[in-house]
Amino acid sequence: MIKLTIWNEFVHEKEHEEVRNVYPDGIHNALAKGLADSGLDIKTATLEEAEHGLSEDVLNNTDVLIWWGHMAHDRVEDAIVERVHKRVMEGMGLIVLHSGHFSKIFKKLMGTGCDLKWREAGERERIWVVDPAHPIAAGLPEQFALEQEEMYGEHFDIPAPDELVFVSWFEGGNVFRSGCTFHRGQGKIFYFRPGHETHPTYYDANVLKVISNSVKWAAPSGAAVPVRGQSVPSLEPISPKNV
Ligand code: ZN
Repeated sequence: MIKLTIWNEFVHEKEHEEVRNVYPDGIHNALAKGLADSGLDIKTATLEEAEHGLSEDVLNNTDVLIWWGHMAHDRVEDAIVERVHKRVMEGMGLIVLHSGHFSKIFKKLMGTGCDLKWREAGERERIWVVDPAHPIAAGLPEQFALEQEEMYGEHFDIPAPDELVFVSWFEGGNVFRSGCTFHRGQGKIFYFRPGHETHPTYYDANVLKVISNSVKWAAPSGAAVPVRGQSVPSLEPISPKNV
């Protein structure tokens, strides 16, 4: 069974009633509940826990990490970011949601500014599947709508994604690369755009389907860790050549 850890900064829900009304137990618990029937072994972790809930032991027992953060990116300790980064390089999957585009870990993995246009107008978002053969799109319709979402618009300052699975259209005229995959080291990364904290996005069946598919896609392959940086003996006899 894939071991999933859902990390949420869990600050908006405690400080803002408007958010608490939508996610009374926090975004992490809403996601855990929504993914409960996906055949995953699910744990949660939050910023205020010791080591942000991401101890060596927790990360070593995590196949895929989901990351939701927004107003407290700066409060995530650099040492923990390094620890998560190392695990991604070793093969841990990482799913970065919505405002996690500005998290320390996502910016470090992308190497770019990761900035974008935004607008909080509660407008309709239509999410189009642009790679229907991709496993993250399995079981989804051609497109689906979220009646109220924050707008994220291009240009999104990321490196060219390895694969583009979703593109979003917004009522106000903007478009966005809303489902992007990346490979870093042995790790697979998926960025998925929806999930503003004042909208009930993480209760939407299609959104949950995307997240559950992406966790399965990002799980470690089980391939051996390559050994690098040393002179190696030949595997077959090397015949002497005239030079
Ligand atoms: Zn937002």
